[in-house]
Parts: sequence; C-alpha cells; structure tokens
Amino acid sequence: MAPPAEGANGAVSAQDLKLAEVSQKYTAEAAKRFRPEGLGQFIRLKEVGSERLRALAEDPWVDHAALNAKEPIKDGSKYKFIVLGAGYGGLLYAVRLIESGLATGPDDILMIDSAGGFGGTWWWNRYPGLHCDIESYCYMPLLEETGYIPKSKYAPGPELLEHADRIATHWKLHDKALFRSSVKTIRWDDASRLWNLELTEGRGPGEQSRELKLQARYVLLASGILTNPQVPKVPGLETFAGSIFHTARWNYQVTGGSPNDEALTGLEGKRVGIIGTGATAIQVVPKLAKYAKELYVFQRTPSGVWWRGQRPTDPEEWKTKIARKKGWQRERMLNLDSYLTDGAEEGQENMVADGWTEMPAFSAVIGSPRHGIVEPTPEKIAEHLGRLYKLDFPHAEEVRARTDSIVKDPETAAKLKAWYPTWCKRPTFSDEYLQAFNLPNVHLVDTDGKGVDSANSSGLVVAGKEYPLDILVLSTGYVTPSIGGGSPAVRTGVEIYGRGGKSLDDKWQTQGASTLHGVCSSGFPNLFFTPLSQSSQASNNAFTLDVGTEHVTHIIEKAEARVGGDALVEVTSEAEEAWALEIMQHASWFASVMGCTPGYITSEGEALQRSADPMEMAKKARGSNLSQGMAAFLKLLQEYRAEGSLKGFEIASRA
Ligand code: FAD
Ligand code: NDP
Repeated sequence: MAPPAEGANGAVSAQDLKLAEVSQKYTAEAAKRFRPEGLGQFIRLKEVGSERLRALAEDPWVDHAALNAKEPIKDGSKYKFIVLGAGYGGLLYAVRLIESGLATGPDDILMIDSAGGFGGTWWWNRYPGLHCDIESYCYMPLLEETGYIPKSKYAPGPELLEHADRIATHWKLHDKALFRSSVKTIRWDDASRLWNLELTEGRGPGEQSRELKLQARYVLLASGILTNPQVPKVPGLETFAGSIFHTARWNYQVTGGSPNDEALTGLEGKRVGIIGTGATAIQVVPKLAKYAKELYVFQRTPSGVWWRGQRPTDPEEWKTKIARKKGWQRERMLNLDSYLTDGAEEGQENMVADGWTEMPAFSAVIGSPRHGIVEPTPEKIAEHLGRLYKLDFPHAEEVRARTDSIVKDPETAAKLKAWYPTWCKRPTFSDEYLQAFNLPNVHLVDTDGKGVDSANSSGLVVAGKEYPLDILVLSTGYVTPSIGGGSPAVRTGVEIYGRGGKSLDDKWQTQGASTLHGVCSSGFPNLFFTPLSQSSQASNNAFTLDVGTEHVTHIIEKAEARVGGDALVEVTSEAEEAWALEIMQHASWFASVMGCTPGYITSEGEALQRSADPMEMAKKARGSNLSQGMAAFLKLLQEYRAEGSLKGFEIASRA
C-alpha cells in the first residue's frame, strides 16, 4: 500500500497514521495465511480418495423414483439448444430463448443438470439459515414476468428454490430438462456442424446409470461459479467416527429439522464442530448454536460481519415504491450496483439502502464508473491502492467496532475481527452470528490463520489440542471459479473440443482468456458461456446472469435473422484479440487484490504470485474485467448491439 499522503501543510493526519498501521497488520495477517500449495490444499469432494467422504457429494434431495418414472431421453437425440445447468443462469437462458422466438419447438431446448431438479445453487444448498445475501427484489430473477412478490427482503433458501420451479412452470420447462446427468465432453463436429455431448445419467441406487450421446446446434454453458464443494486436505479426516457432511449437502437425518424447519433437535446433547467461517458458516452457526450441547467453530480467517436488517416485504411499499413501473427490477439492480461500484450520484435515491450500499470500496474488485483506467505504472497503482484503502478504512473499522460492541468477551471479539480490506472476501451480513459467541455453549477455536491440523476418530486437532466431536460440518466452500486460468470448461468439469479438435482448456492455458465480451471464443462456434472474465461482475450474481444471457440471446437472434434460419456464429480471432487488448488495459485496477488475504477471489493466493515470465503476466491481465463496473459493461453491450452489425462475428448459414 502507498505510504500515508502528506496534507497541504506537509502534515500526516492521525487517520492516515492509523491506516498505515492497520495496513501493516493486513499484510502480516495475510502473510500468515499464504500456503505454498495454494489451490492444492483442497480437493473436490466428489474426487476425495475416501469412499465415505466421496459419497458426501451425492445429491441428498433427488427423487429417483419420480425421475425414473419419466419418459427417458433417447440416446442420440438432437436439440437446437442444450443449456448446461438448470440454476438461475440456465433458466434465464431458456426463458430468453423462448421469449425471443428462438426456441418454440418441442425439441428446441434441453436443459441438463447433475442436480435432481431446477435451482442450481438453491437446489444443492439447503442448510439451515440459508438466504440470499443480496436483496431478493434484485436477486430473484424474472419477478416482473412471474408476478411473484418475495416474502422478505432476503429470501430464505426454500423460497429461492421454489422460485426456480416457478420459472420452470411458467415457461413449461419441466419436460425440457434432464436431471442427475453430468456432462463429460462437448465436441464440435465439422461435418454435421453440431456439438456432440457425452454424459452420464444417474438412475439412483441399484439402477444402472446410462451413458448418453446427444447433439445440439448451440450449447450454452450456465454451469455456475460455486458448484463443486471442496474439502481441505486435513490428515485423518476420513477416520472421523462421528457424522460428517458438507454444508452444500446438508444432512437433516443427522441434525433433525428440514429446510423449512430450523428445529435441529438431532443436535441436542451433541458436540458439534464446524470448519470454516465464510458466508455459509455465518448463516449456519447461529442455527447450530441453538441446539448443539457444545458448538466448536474452527476458524482460520474471520469474516467481516455487517448488519443484515431482514424484514418482511411490506405490500404497500411493494406496490408504491418497489414494483412501481415496468422495468423496475433492472432499474433496481442498477441502483444497487451503483453503490457497490462507488458510482452513486450525489442526492440519488438509495432504493435498497442495506449494508451492501455502505461499502463503496467493494468497487476494488468489480470496478467503478467514477475513475478512468489505472495506468500500469508503480506510482499510479500505488495511488489507486492508497485511495481504495482510504475509502475502505472507515467502514472496515466500523465492522471491527461492531464486533467489539456485540461480542462480550474481549478476547473472543478480538479473534473475530477481520483484518483485510472489505473486498478480499465476500462481505457477510448477520444480526445473529456474532451474538452466538455470547452463548455459553459456543466456542471459537481460532487457529490463527493456520487451519485445522488434523482429524482422528474422535474429533479435530488444533495446536496439539484435541476437540472431541459427535458431528462435524464442513463449511469449507467451493472449488475456485478461476481454476484452470478461468477456463469455462475446467470450472464446468467438462472437456470441450472445438474446430480441429482444439481443447478450450489448452487455449486458456496457452493464450489465457480469449473471448468477445466474455461469452464466446473463436474456434468454438455456437458455444456460449455466462461471463466471468473479460466482462464484468456484479456483487449481485443474478444481475451478471441477466446481462450475460440477454447479450448471448441477442447475438443468436440477430445471427439467425441475418441468415434466415439456422446460423453458425463464431467470433473471429482478430475480434477476440482486440477485446483482450482492451481488457488488459483495465487490469491495473484489479491490483487491488494484491494486499488480500488468500481466498477464492485470489485463487487461494496463486493469483497474487508474480511471474518473471512476461507471457504469464500477460495471460493474467487477459483474465481481467472491465474496470468501470457492470453498468458501464451493460452500456457497452447495448451500444454494440445498437450498432447492429454484430462486429467481430462471422455468421454463416448452417445449412
Ligand atoms: P448455479 O446455480 O451454480 O447452477 C449451475 C448448475 O450447473 C448446477 O446445478 C450444477 O449442478 C450444474 N452443472 C455444472 N457443471 C455441470 C456438468 N458438467 N454437468 C451437469 N451439470 C452441471 N449470489 C448472489 O448474488 N447472492 C447470493 O445471495 C448468493 N448466495 C449464494 C449462496 C451459496 C450457498 C452459494 C454457493 C452461492 C451463492 N451465490 C449468491 C452465488 C450463486 O451461485 C449465484 O447467485 C447463482 O445462483 C448462480 O446461478 P447459476 O445458474 O449461474 O449457477
Ligand atoms: P468460503 O470459501 O467462503 O469459506 C470456506 C471457509 O473454510 C473459510 O472460512 C476458510 O478459511 C475455511 N477453511 C478452509 N480450509 C480450512 C482449514 N484447513 N482449516 C480451517 N478452516 C478452513 O465458502 P462459503 O461456503 O462460506 O462461501 C462461498 C461463497 O458462496 C461465498 O463467498 C459467497 O459468494 C457464496 N455464499 C453466499 C451466501 C449468501 O449470503 N447468500 C451464503 C453462502 C455462500 P479461509 O478464509 O482462511 O480460507
């Protein structure tokens, strides 16, 4: 970070001195947490060596009997669109394809998901306390179109899941979905000009799974960013004799209760441990605390916990202030985004007015329309970082002060304070989490950045001390979305081969991210993905999905209109190189993560390692985003679309 700046009279303010002191602490705390193995410290739950642990990745919610009773999809079937993923992203794709008239026939769309139903994140995650952290009026897609009014400002998990089903029902998607099916490879065939997909459909216990080959004219990847639960490689974990499960596959048979009933009576009289203190644990811990005899919270890095302010939706407010005109949801998403990107205008109405809107420094990782491009010189980058730290400092201090004001034991309060800038991890919001540490049965086991040392049959070991447990909850997150350099194939767990058998992963490995607008890549005709890099990200993921699916649908729609039917749409390599160069100019903005404590935002610290090889540094820069934020990205896309020529694409008839 830049040293404290001198004022006009040459004086350094007290606040600047405090900030300099705090940023030294940030650096020291981050240093404690760097692990040379980076992403290698974790393993995908479904790939763990131990059969017992591997089984924890299975879908606890699927109704095999009901799905087996459906007419099976025929091997070799052909579709116009295959949408990989049936979460909010996949659903948005399907709805837009239908609404645009691109998919009107019975075999025009097939949605494929390894889950047993619609919902993606909200299918898999059903832990007690789950709710969206973004206001539901902005987060739940298609509220205007479905006419649904969320029951509260932050919808709980079951309501978010139900909404996925509502969308599927509204647009008659139930017969256009293949569940329990994992796509393994997606291969372009130049002769037929079709994509060939290979997948395995699970049929449930005692049933033979089916290997299927399907074909599609277009493939749309909506495979999410946080879908693969991971576990840290804690020695001896598989030997733990008690019950164990990951938060993404909650085991209500062990805990009692259900997604709609937080009475976790199965925990009564039990010693419960939870590893992890990220956004999930913040929601889970208060619920465990109510029922467990003893709850041990194993912490490596504390989360900053800001206020929540959950409340029921007021029907009058809904009518008069929220759903007040056509297009209100997009307007509200933009309004929320303006606060997060430090782009709110003086006197502007703060529609959402929640904790998120009080952290303009989050713009450090999503960009801001308020500032131009940061020049890639050490001085300019230091200036940029200095400004961001200063912008964040009052808020970060307030978050720490809130911890002191809530947690009665000063020693515990000190350990629960987050010593990193707000943008380094997903900010969390709760009016119950910190309070739980005032309960006599809740014990914080702070590992001072080191993590849990080992496990054995009776429990966990930290710093030589054994913590005997009956139940262990793994709240240890997901495989980082930027794994494999951010290749859309790696994060989907699919091998994708385009023209000439070229692998998408190899392309990302050798060239780095290569797209136009973050949604398609040359050599991979008629293949689109939801944007992650070379685009923009909003804190509201539903907004990112909304913008991305709208853009992709437009491209296909215009391409088909141009050729009068089936189209072959492919971005040129010149256009994607030009876009990569544009993106690289924005990379310095994201130097903001350089001072971060490791986490998935920094690929567990791997993204912070500087390489002596300029090609490697260039690849990292290509994986950046626009630094002016989502509203600016949306405007750029709208202008691009308005120009009308689909510049950068080669479009031909498929016939
Ligand atoms: P997902 O919902 O992840 O759906 C992708 C689907 O693709 C999954 O069902 C997966 O099974 C399927 N899939 C992936 N690969 C394959 C394959 N190879 N074969 C078959 N199927 C495959 N974001 C917010 O903005 N606000 C929040 O409050 C919020 N809360 C969250 C809470 C949790 C616990 C988690 C984990 C994430 C949260 N997120 C939140 C991020 C969330 O993932 C997104 O908001 C959003 O739901 C993503 O939708 P999606 O459709 O893109 O992906
Ligand atoms: P995270 O990756 O945020 O948290 C994983 C936790 O496990 C961290 O606290 C991590 O510590 C800890 N951990 C990892 N390895 C060890 C170890 N060896 N010993 C001890 N602790 C360890 O996962 P989450 O599931 O909490 O959240 C993932 C993302 O999902 C969020 O960032 C957010 O985007 C989304 N989400 C949103 C929610 C919402 O509010 N609606 C709710 C839940 C999730 P460390 O920090 O040191 O790595």
